[in-house]
Amino acid sequence: MNILVTGGAGYIGSHAARLLDKSGHNVWIYDNLVYGHRAAALPGKLVEGDIADRERVVSVLKEHAIDAVMHFAAFALVGESVAEPHKYYRNNVIGTLELLEAMRSAEVSKIVFSSTTATYGVPDNIPITESERQDPINPYGFSKLVIEKALADYAHAYDWGYAALRYFNAAGASPDGTIGEDHTPESHIIPIVLQVALGQRDNITIFGNDYPTPDGTCIRDYIHVDDLADAHLKALDLLEPSSNLQLNLGTGSGQSVKQIIEACRRITGHPIPTTIEQRRPGDPAELVADSSLAQRVLGWTPRYTDVNDIVSTAWQWHRSHPRGYAS
Ligand code: UDP
Repeated sequence: MNILVTGGAGYIGSHAARLLDKSGHNVWIYDNLVYGHRAAALPGKLVEGDIADRERVVSVLKEHAIDAVMHFAAFALVGESVAEPHKYYRNNVIGTLELLEAMRSAEVSKIVFSSTTATYGVPDNIPITESERQDPINPYGFSKLVIEKALADYAHAYDWGYAALRYFNAAGASPDGTIGEDHTPESHIIPIVLQVALGQRDNITIFGNDYPTPDGTCIRDYIHVDDLADAHLKALDLLEPSSNLQLNLGTGSGQSVKQIIEACRRITGHPIPTTIEQRRPGDPAELVADSSLAQRVLGWTPRYTDVNDIVSTAWQWHRSHPRGYAS
């Protein structure tokens, strides 16, 4: 198929684009390079542009006879979304609605959408199934939930096929060492801990050690970025007119912040000093996926089930690219 990958120069999008390409799809990347990296995009396949530029998207969809869109392009920092909600509603909501309208004009009616565990807010049940109430507690989660709702309406009204894939914590890097995580500023736990191991930071700040968890620190479900990419490919194969999939993508295993730091110590051999600070606003104590529906529906199983293996691939990337793509 001819696939347009929005945000394909970003962290998760670049891994999905590689896998699509390897699987024989004809991939085009559409990215405004605000957070994406030219070097992360598939060589010769990057079209620079913004998802909100409807006319440009229409012409790209038509020029490359696109059959389906994988939509990764988004702003994705919870804290920033609280401080600058307009940025999130404008890009993630208005931008995506422009993309959907461009698809309608170009008669493209299949889309795999990057959604998030943040659409659940503070869940009542752990592990989280897809039937958990979606009640976001920050603008980022709301912006993604609005698009999930819009896609349901588009599927109903216009016979679209879509998948909304709700990621837990994306982590790790391509094991071939060519692409990985590079955010400026970095806010995610694994890259920050590895920056300590690289001598780029003195210590890691643990945001809160008084949570109601066994060691007092937050628990998250870390899923390898290539496992996420694999689930996208499998979801793409299932898209049919008027069909929809809403699926959690996680490993089902929770790791506390302290356990992540311990794994990074094991992998890097660095002592990794820590300091404790107050809780970060908007952080639920525990988010762990029940991904059994995704496993059943997609015939998908995460290959990286040991967090040490996930951290190892991240370490390989960060060690060989200490300044990310600028290295
Ligand atoms: N975290 C931390 N120190 C940091 C960055 C993150 O203690 O410097 C914690 C954060 O509070 C959360 C977990 O690590 O409990 C994962 O945070 P991250 O930002 O990586 O992902 P998120 O869960 O926000 O998507």
